[in-house]
Amino acid sequence: MTIINCTIPFGVIRDISNYSKIINEILKFEISFNILKFSTDSNGANILLDVPEDKIKSITESLKENNVIVNTKGRVIVLDNCIDCGACISLCPTEALHFNDEFKLEFAYEKCIGCLLCLDSCPRSAIEEM
Ligand code: SF4
Ligand code: SF4
Repeated sequence: MTIINCTIPFGVIRDISNYSKIINEILKFEISFNILKFSTDSNGANILLDVPEDKIKSITESLKENNVIVNTKGRVIVLDNCIDCGACISLCPTEALHFNDEFKLEFAYEKCIGCLLCLDSCPRSAIEEM
């Protein structure tokens, strides 16, 4: 399974049927999937979907056709006050946060999908949303 981080912009949401339509589009693939997180902010409704890896391309295309924004770029930075405790690593679904050979935290921006699951895990508040 792999994670898709997407946003339904407020302009696209008129009522609950808009959500149902998007979920029904995914159900057409006859797969099991999980909704890991649902939140709203000034951009719209943010949803983290856990879907089978071999379907990610077709599901992403389907979401885009329904005016859903699929976030593929990182949205966090790791600050210098990181103490390399590793608490954030297990929460990162894409291994964007990982240890190097010297057990120092490394952040691979290109792997980060901006799910923000790591934000609250840091005891030093060393991870910030950009
Ligand atoms: S936001 Fe954090 S947990 Fe999510 S992919 Fe990026 S580094 Fe990993
Ligand atoms: S949880 Fe915070 S302090 Fe610990 S490794 Fe991650 S960024 Fe660094």
